Amino acid sequence: MEKTFFIIKPDGVKRGLVGQVLQRIEQRGFQLEKLELRPAPSSELVDQHYEALVDKAFYPLIRDFMTSGPIVVGVISGPQVISCWRKMMGATRPEEALPGTIRGDFAQAPQGDETIQNIVHGSDSPESAAREIALWFGEK
Ligand code: UDP
Ligand code: MG
Repeated sequence: MEKTFFIIKPDGVKRGLVGQVLQRIEQRGFQLEKLELRPAPSSELVDQHYEALVDKAFYPLIRDFMTSGPIVVGVISGPQVISCWRKMMGATRPEEALPGTIRGDFAQAPQGDETIQNIVHGSDSPESAAREIALWFGEK
């Protein structure tokens, strides 16, 4: 069965949205394969996770955000779970995320800097899912 990797980012944990995010996963019928509350991740781990973004000018702000507090990491499985979870998350920018999506229901457009605090992460392809599952849950 297809698997994807998700994160409830520091803003989601701080705002007390863990239960509501997990409820949507269960409601949609996806299987929880792994689920862990983790202390704030290291910069090194976040840099590896966002390897496609590390060279962007705004990346240091994303690193600061992602290392700012505890997160929940997990793996879910189900038919077409990668694309379905991306749809359930909604667009990256909260102002573009539709109502009914996690970001569209809970996240606000950035007001100060450009860091987009958008509650959740989900892998964007089978290759990213495999890489991210190994990175966050693989043997050390
Ligand atoms: N991000 C940001 N500003 C940007 C682009 C991305 O703050 O201009 C952050 C945001 O939290 C986003 C994450 O970096 O969710 C990863 O970006 P990506 O383009 O992969 O979006 P996603 O896959 O999370 O929708
Ligand atoms: Mg992405």
